[in-house]
Amino acid sequence: MIDELTKEIEGVRRSFLNEIEQIQSPEKLAALKERFLSRKKGIVGQQLLKLRDCTTAEKPVAGQLINQLKLFIETELAGTEEKIGARPSTQEQWSDCSLPASDLPIGRFHLIAEIQRQIEELFLNLGYEIAYGPEVELEEYNFTALNIPEFHPARDEQDTFFLDGFDNTVLRTHTSPMQVRYMLAQRPPLKIISPGKAFRKDDPDATHSPCFHQVEGLLVDRGVNFSHLKGTLEVFCRSFFGPDVNLRFRPGYFPFTEPSAEVDISCFMCSGRQPDCKVCKGSGWLEILGSGMVHPQVLRNCGIDPEIHSGFAFGMGIERVAMIKFGVPDLRLLYENDLRLLGQFG
Ligand SMILES: [Zn+2]
Repeated sequence: MIDELTKEIEGVRRSFLNEIEQIQSPEKLAALKERFLSRKKGIVGQQLLKLRDCTTAEKPVAGQLINQLKLFIETELAGTEEKIGARPSTQEQWSDCSLPASDLPIGRFHLIAEIQRQIEELFLNLGYEIAYGPEVELEEYNFTALNIPEFHPARDEQDTFFLDGFDNTVLRTHTSPMQVRYMLAQRPPLKIISPGKAFRKDDPDATHSPCFHQVEGLLVDRGVNFSHLKGTLEVFCRSFFGPDVNLRFRPGYFPFTEPSAEVDISCFMCSGRQPDCKVCKGSGWLEILGSGMVHPQVLRNCGIDPEIHSGFAFGMGIERVAMIKFGVPDLRLLYENDLRLLGQFG
């Protein structure tokens, strides 16, 4: 079968060459092209039909022979087209510089960076300063000064990356040590937020990652009380998630605040009215951040007299905010840099 086909293709090639050599006009050339390459009745197309009669083993060889024939014919046709002036040669082709340029893709911030910037902007407008801190931190600032004593489970090697060869240093497990640094360096009144990366020895899954992003806030002044904290978080949550969201404070525990509260917002999608809501899973509430009044011992550790000054602090995960606000189902998607996902935001 292959031998037969090879002979036949050679025949087609010769008869095509004979004909094309005599052609002088674009019309005749077009007719020749039609006769050999037209999709349904073209001579090359007829050869392709013969693939049906080939065995499975013969098919790839036969297909290659026919494709080579097609390529040969196309190349010859293009050469003759140029020779007889049926189309301008490449040298004669020209570009119209006045045509508008084709679109170039425009870059944008990654969703995590975008949310961090929005939060920063919001707190700048409330008069806060932004304080970025080092990611390699002293144990003293990451734990001890924040009222997390030696025996506290947060210091467990299961939770924390300690650095070999550098005593008393860790990859910070939260951005709170920057609050310590700031309180040690400045006198009240203090109003800061501290955004950035934090690290914990978590196995990656849909809601955990060994590296993640946080924003924490701290305000210390005379006469600061819990209602200031509530008011601040209300302004933040309503600006960020929508003017109608309500806040719910649940008692919580953090070593560095007393009293402490977990804060939920009412579901901005359904306000608790849809039992099958995908955002809140029907509960009507979304856990969004942790907060509390700065523990007097933390103030003392930082050289601030808790009899004179008081303060509040709060913190949230940026990935969690992204997942809630934009319905990202798995935190790992945010690190895969797949433009099909990231292109939907910003
Ligand atoms: Zn809901």
